[in-house]
Parts: sequence; C-alpha cells; structure tokens
Amino acid sequence: MGLTGFIGLGHMGEGMARQLQSKGHKLAVYDVRNEPVEGLVSMGAENAGSVAGVAKASDVVVTMLPASADVEQVVLGPDGVLANGREGQLVMDMSTVDPETSDKLAAELAKAGIGFVDAPVGRLASHAWAGESLFMVGAHDDDFARVKPLLEAMGTTIYHCGGPGTGTRTKLVNNFLTIGLCQMNAEVLTLSQAFGLDLETTFGVLNGTTGTNGQLKVAYANKVLKGDTEPGFRVTLAHKDMLLICNAANAVNAPVPLAASVRESLSLAKAGGYAERDFSSALDHWCERAGVPKARFKDAG
Ligand code: NAD
Repeated sequence: MGLTGFIGLGHMGEGMARQLQSKGHKLAVYDVRNEPVEGLVSMGAENAGSVAGVAKASDVVVTMLPASADVEQVVLGPDGVLANGREGQLVMDMSTVDPETSDKLAAELAKAGIGFVDAPVGRLASHAWAGESLFMVGAHDDDFARVKPLLEAMGTTIYHCGGPGTGTRTKLVNNFLTIGLCQMNAEVLTLSQAFGLDLETTFGVLNGTTGTNGQLKVAYANKVLKGDTEPGFRVTLAHKDMLLICNAANAVNAPVPLAASVRESLSLAKAGGYAERDFSSALDHWCERAGVPKARFKDAG
C-alpha cells in the first residue's frame, strides 16, 4: 500500500518510471520482460512480480502498454488491476488506445469505486527518458489533482483536456498530424533521392520554408537521416495509431482519406520488414520501393 504502481516498462514506460523513482515517488513495477524491472529495482523500486502484485501494493496504478487489447487485459482481465484492486484507488492509463477502451475502463472501474485517468503522452521516447514529455489528460478535477505531481515528475507540459476519454481523443488528433507528417516527409525525401538532389541542401530548403515541420527537423534529423532506425516509436505502433484514428473518425462520420492512405503506407512498411524499426524508417522503406539510395546525411557514417 502507498506505492505508485507502474506496468509496462518499454521504450516509453521505462524512462517515465525512472523519472518517477528518481524524483521520490516510490514505485512497485511490473513488465513481462525482466530486464527493465531489474533496472528499476536497482534504483530502489519494488519488483511487484505480477499485475496483481502491483494492484495490491499501489494507490495509483500507471499503465504504459502497447495497444488497447493489452490495456484491457491488464486492467480488466481475470488477474488484472480491477480484480485485485480496491475502492479509492486510481488507474492512470498513459498508452495510446481506442477511445472506446478508455470509456470502457472508466465505466468498469467506476463500478468498483476506482477512479480512471487517461493521460497519453506526446513527444519522443528520448523526451520520456529526459522527463520532458507532454501529457494530454482526461480526468475529473479531483483525480487530475491526484495525478498532477506524478505528471510533473515525468514531463514538462500538461494539458487537462476535459473529463475521462478526452486525453485519448486529443492524442489521436495529434498523432494523425504527427504520423501524417512523417509519411509526407518519407515521400518528399524519396522524390529528392530519385531526382539525385543533395540531401543537406534539400533538408535546408525544406526547413527554411513554410514546409517546416518538427518531424523533419527533429525526428528525421536525429534518427533515420543519421542512419539510426532503432526505436523510438515502432512502425507497428504508428500503424496501430493510424488504425485507431481511422476507426474513431469513421465512428463520428469524419472523412479522413489522407489518414487511410497513411495507414496503408504503414501497412506496406510493416509487411516490408520494418514493423519493429523506428517509424522514421518509413523513409528507408519508401526509398527501397522506389529503388533509390537511402537518404543519409554525409556525416552519418
Ligand atoms: P513498447 O512496446 O516499447 O513497450 C510496451 C511494454 O509493455 C513492453 O516492455 C512490454 O514488455 C510490456 N508489456 C506488454 N504486455 C504486457 C503485460 N501484459 N504485462 C506487463 N507488461 C507488458 O511500447 P512503447 O513505445 O513504450 O509505447 C507504449 C505506448 O505509448 C503505446 O501505446 C504507444 O503507442 C505510446 N507512445 C509511444 C511513443 C514512442 O515514441 N515510443 C510516444 C508516445 C506514445
């Protein structure tokens, strides 16, 4: 009792949990993989051993898992947080999931007197490890006050978007723009490669006009253009987000033809062997399909 629980110590979660632990929030942690658990334990966190162990030890349980099905299993499954939780607890899901999943978690947990906050995360994994993330939070006011110190320990920018479910919906709106721009960068730079243009010159022009975008300036500049396609944010998760975006948009009759096209471009990247690479490697995939050299800065090595 009295600890903060953290389930899901992947590219994002491990860095976020490390920020919490290093800033005085004593954690009970769990992941199906041992390696990140051991890292947190060496910093003073408790190895809860299972989802149930986290639920029993914690007042607030944070989840940072890949997709909707994982979160539903961990929170609502037979050995999950709800089954092992108690009235007065709070679950904060920080994964990017279907809005219907957030709504379902809020409703099911409420029946047991357990609060729910959806607080998906903006920016890159490198920001999460540096404690510089942005959070989009859906929460009742009293629950927001309860998680605010945790969010302040993990990030620099917090938006309280409204009640439960609004954080997840804001995240999908944001990721449509983010992932859409990433795919646009891939096609634009593939054309530059096909024209045989100088990459550094093209990069300078694109960042010097109104075409400027953070995906090109920050993510591409630090990852794929330097030859680094280690995730980061995996292609398979970007594809999952585009599926969520298309489905959620269709559910409210919002036409999103570009989103469908981006989703299928990522389907091709997944099928082409890029599923576990960083999502900026959409560029490598596109260059490969076009039969042009991969775009790399001259000093990329
Ligand atoms: P990841 O796959 O690297 O990490 C997920 C972690 O959850 C892994 O360590 C995995 O072992 C663990 N896990 C899976 N099922 C589990 C279970 N049943 N019990 C315990 N642990 C389990 O994913 P990530 O990149 O850290 O992303 C997590 C979420 O954050 C996703 O929803 C993603 O879309 C979102 N997100 C990612 C980024 C990014 O840049 N990587 C940025 C913002 C948001």
